Amino acid sequence: MSLRRFLEDVEREGEVLHVRNELSTRFEIPFIMKEFDNKGFVLMFERVKGCKTKVVAHISGTRKRICKALGVGEERLYERLIKAWRSPRKLKIVENGPVKEVVEKPDLSKIPVLTHFERDAGPYITSGVVYAKSHDGEVENVSVHRLQVLDENHLAIRLVPRHLFKLWQMAKRADKDLDVSISIGVHPAVILAASSPVPFGVNEFHVANALLNNGLRLVECENVEAYAPADAELVLEGRISVKKEVDEGPFVDVTGTYDVERKQPVVEVVGMMHRRDYFYQALLPSGMEHRLLMGLPREALIWEAVSKVVPKVNAVNLSFGGCGWLHAIISIEKQLEGDGKNALLAAFAAHPSLKHAVVVDSDIDVYDLSAVEWAVATRFQADEDLLVIKNVRGSTLDSSADQETGLTTKMGIDATKPLMKPKELFERAKIPSNKRVERLTRKLLGL
Ligand code: MN
Repeated sequence: MSLRRFLEDVEREGEVLHVRNELSTRFEIPFIMKEFDNKGFVLMFERVKGCKTKVVAHISGTRKRICKALGVGEERLYERLIKAWRSPRKLKIVENGPVKEVVEKPDLSKIPVLTHFERDAGPYITSGVVYAKSHDGEVENVSVHRLQVLDENHLAIRLVPRHLFKLWQMAKRADKDLDVSISIGVHPAVILAASSPVPFGVNEFHVANALLNNGLRLVECENVEAYAPADAELVLEGRISVKKEVDEGPFVDVTGTYDVERKQPVVEVVGMMHRRDYFYQALLPSGMEHRLLMGLPREALIWEAVSKVVPKVNAVNLSFGGCGWLHAIISIEKQLEGDGKNALLAAFAAHPSLKHAVVVDSDIDVYDLSAVEWAVATRFQADEDLLVIKNVRGSTLDSSADQETGLTTKMGIDATKPLMKPKELFERAKIPSNKRVERLTRKLLGL
């Protein structure tokens, strides 16, 4: 299962927009990406200034497309994800693969890496799936990291204190640089697995393989001790230095604000392999794709946790405006008074970065923010239905949280109908219709 195969399917459905004008990697391509964010199209930039390689963007840019990539309906997505997290599948290591069509000396200047925002420190690789293993071979990890291009064969890697950071600390203690493969242009299942909150010790490639029904194969790298998807477009082989650090950033993160400059480790790129006509996968920081890849796995966690305290969870939306990370809208089947608040508590426990959450009844579409606001307007009383939790751990991504302690205030809004009051009070009025008038309306709307 390759990104290329998947893109052929997307192309057949007319969802690939080919941009044939010559464009620069510095701001021009990112500008168009931003304007086309969440418009439903994959963008294929055919002519890149000073480079033969095409740039493709917004691959996992909509929920629908992610579901399509996993071959699952939206209503089964969370179950499918959770099942893959809990039952990862070992996979085949093959001798050769399309990614080895060209094996060459690394030269990052040949790759159309984008410079996205005005004050970004420089060009950044944003769709790099990084594989590493511990020196004893016990732990393998795959995760997504932003990578700042420093020169032809050096990158700075942002290591948030999670699994790869832990492996790097272990390498530091052994005083041995950490070998990595950085895969760019992989099937959506691979990047989604790499963004998933599975425990340390679970190989996310195995999760991806479960998502792909054993459809993932890996090859061994040529210059480092690492594996990479045999069907990737491009793979960089590198070593994360345990000694050398540089100033990394500023760079726009998922919130759309600038993340500060920090000392981060240097990756020496020692090898490069790719398909003969590889294309480069771009990913717009703070765009829909970024927020979906981060948010969807957390929605699954919230869905699972809330399902344990109320009869049914219809849908969860870590909304775009909430950066796909800080705001949740949860639609539940309420059975007893107080279910809404229990749902809120479960959601906050399931996703510690969550800051604001709204719980609504099943007649409210969690993706229709105007309907959510309507529920808050007509079903919520602040003195009864508001939950405020002070001084809890939140996300440091939130500029308004205490940046030193990471402490924040969380707010939950229970906008479900009170069961004690007559149902009719909260009923949304409907206008009766018939087939003829519905058809006419669609026509008038140009649908
Ligand atoms: Mn991990």
